[in-house]
Amino acid sequence: MHIRLTLPFYIYPFHFFRGSKMVKIPKSHPRYWSLLYREKIIRGMEEGITAKAGLIAHGRGEAFDYLIGERTIPPAEEAMKVAVAKLLLANHPVISVNGNVAALVPRETVELAKVTRAKLEVNLFYRTEERVKKIAEVLKKTGAKEVLGLNPTKRIPGLESERGKVEEDGIWKADVVLVPLEDGDRTEALVRMGKFVITVDLNPLSRSARMANVTIVDNIIRAYPRMIELAKEMRDYSREELEEIVNNYDNNKILSEVLLHIRRRLEELAKEGIWRKEKI
Ligand code: ATP
Ligand code: MG
Repeated sequence: MHIRLTLPFYIYPFHFFRGSKMVKIPKSHPRYWSLLYREKIIRGMEEGITAKAGLIAHGRGEAFDYLIGERTIPPAEEAMKVAVAKLLLANHPVISVNGNVAALVPRETVELAKVTRAKLEVNLFYRTEERVKKIAEVLKKTGAKEVLGLNPTKRIPGLESERGKVEEDGIWKADVVLVPLEDGDRTEALVRMGKFVITVDLNPLSRSARMANVTIVDNIIRAYPRMIELAKEMRDYSREELEEIVNNYDNNKILSEVLLHIRRRLEELAKEGIWRKEKI
């Protein structure tokens, strides 16, 4: 006899679907958002958008997000303002897109490029032509008119072949580049080229975070929507106002504030105690 067992939905932690459909996560789960974005990354990998190493990078980001408290902290807000001001002031702003970014925030990436008049360039650490094409397709489906990265004719000096490929009309000639979730070595190479480099990186200790001109220590899923808001507000500012925002900025101080925020937070949590606390 064949018995069909039908359990109520809350007995299953997730609903699994085959193919490219995402695992459905119950909204009641205490870490719903975290699981949702984790699924987006997994789906990105299954669809050939995200590299395997991107899964590890995501986990590393999550760990630091726990430490900062999974919210946008004041030093990140300040860095975002400066980043947006610099993008608005730039002659050739470029926003770089990799597999994690395309899986997590495709819509926001396209919108941020629009509101800052930046070009979009697919730029991958583990470059394959197929992945570049797929990411470009994702961005185009989301509304991007132009996506660079498919015809790189230039090389970033100091990086070996695949990792250094960039487009002449994109990162090569950019004066300001936003390279979120980027490898430290490549961030450093861009700085050496004389570019003004902005990064979004949850790990304040990473090489990228320490090399960039502006480091936004925040989750990209919070940072990009906030940067879009800021850009809409700030695009009416005069050049002088924007320049003042940029000139008063000190990235070294911002990184120190992030470290002190983490220390303070951990000290407070240790004092209060975290055992069986629902919210921390
Ligand atoms: P580095 O090369 O800069 O020293 P790394 O080798 O540890 O750093 P990479 O994989 O090269 O890290 O870069 C990815 C970076 O992106 C990591 O520092 C990680 O913490 C960060 N990261 C991952 N996911 C997110 C996210 N959603 N938002 C912001 N940062 C993230
Ligand atoms: Mg790295």
